[in-house]
Amino acid sequence: MSLPRGRVRLMFLRLCCLAPRMMILSIGLLQGFYHLPKPGNHFGARSYTKGRLMCWRVSMDNSGPDKLGDIELALRLKRLAADERFALTDVIFHLMEFDRRRLYSAMGYPSLFSYCVQSLRLSENEAYKRVQTARVCHRYPDILNRLRSGELHLAATALLAPHLTDENHQALLAQASGKTKREVEALVAALAPKPARRDCVRRLSAPAAGRAGDFLVAESCAASGADVPATSVSMPPAPRVEPVSPGRVRFSFTGDEELLRHLERAREVLKRKYPVGRLEELFAEALRWLLDKMDPRCQARRNLRLRRQTPPVQALVETRRIPQWVKDAVWARDEGRCSFRTPDGARCAQRCGLEFDHVVPWALGGRSHDPKNIRLLCREHNQISWRRRFGASSGTGDFSP
Ligand SMILES: [Zn+2]
Repeated sequence: MSLPRGRVRLMFLRLCCLAPRMMILSIGLLQGFYHLPKPGNHFGARSYTKGRLMCWRVSMDNSGPDKLGDIELALRLKRLAADERFALTDVIFHLMEFDRRRLYSAMGYPSLFSYCVQSLRLSENEAYKRVQTARVCHRYPDILNRLRSGELHLAATALLAPHLTDENHQALLAQASGKTKREVEALVAALAPKPARRDCVRRLSAPAAGRAGDFLVAESCAASGADVPATSVSMPPAPRVEPVSPGRVRFSFTGDEELLRHLERAREVLKRKYPVGRLEELFAEALRWLLDKMDPRCQARRNLRLRRQTPPVQALVETRRIPQWVKDAVWARDEGRCSFRTPDGARCAQRCGLEFDHVVPWALGGRSHDPKNIRLLCREHNQISWRRRFGASSGTGDFSP
């Protein structure tokens, strides 16, 4: 039996089209599986990233995130974050060489920073961190390995860069490993304490775009007499809390005229208690009052104290409403924290916006007057629990309690 000549030609053309795609697929898989990075081998990182990215494109074609189960999705996100770290380390590694050759200058940019912003399309913040890190990596290349493994993040290396010396770099890098940005800021503040500033309330000369009226900046630290430059600010800065020296933190935020009036009135009211009326004292007093009135933890402690003096009378008719003494007992037992646990035993860390949830729902005969049937859940886990009980579909339920 012989095939018609036209059909043979068509099959040959199809094979020619498929061959390059198969080659790209094989190269991607081979690179992904066989070019794994070795410690201290930064070139390994490059080929590994390239291979992984090609594998990723192939796998994304087969299964998008909406097709994955909860655990597969979490695993893929972890892998993608690792890929992102590899790519970032590779960028830093190349920036180091680019900086060493001063190519940015030959290409018409005044600095490596300008090159990163204008040519590589990075934001100022992204460019600053990469340039700082690339320059400190010239002196201490071990940082690259720590970045790649995820021990250090870019914000930490940029913060530490000006403070690393031949004597302290190993100890400091070890201390900063696995720390959040805020914790690294505290570490840097202990290394190089900044001078404290006096209280300052100043009117901003330029109103923020899209908002009417002036803004005020209030800065609070221990009194020292250091002057604050009265520069005009065109946009209100984002609220910021920054450690300045061990045990001391600098706060900075903008407020409106009404806040200023409240502040001045509070200073008058508390004149007897705080003759100087420093912002630190006024805000601390105001927050103590607020938490005493509004914080469920403070209320639970107060109610428990009262209950010890007058034991609760058991209600004759039990309703759906959870009585206060049950809420207090549950809050104390769950330590004011969401009680949701994953199948491997890890507990949710949420402490804000918590809700009291019936373990056995009231509609199914669960009691409101029994602390054993009540638990604390954050909003997210309460909704997951509710959907699971009453049948609304949500994911595959791998993380459901
Ligand atoms: Zn939770």
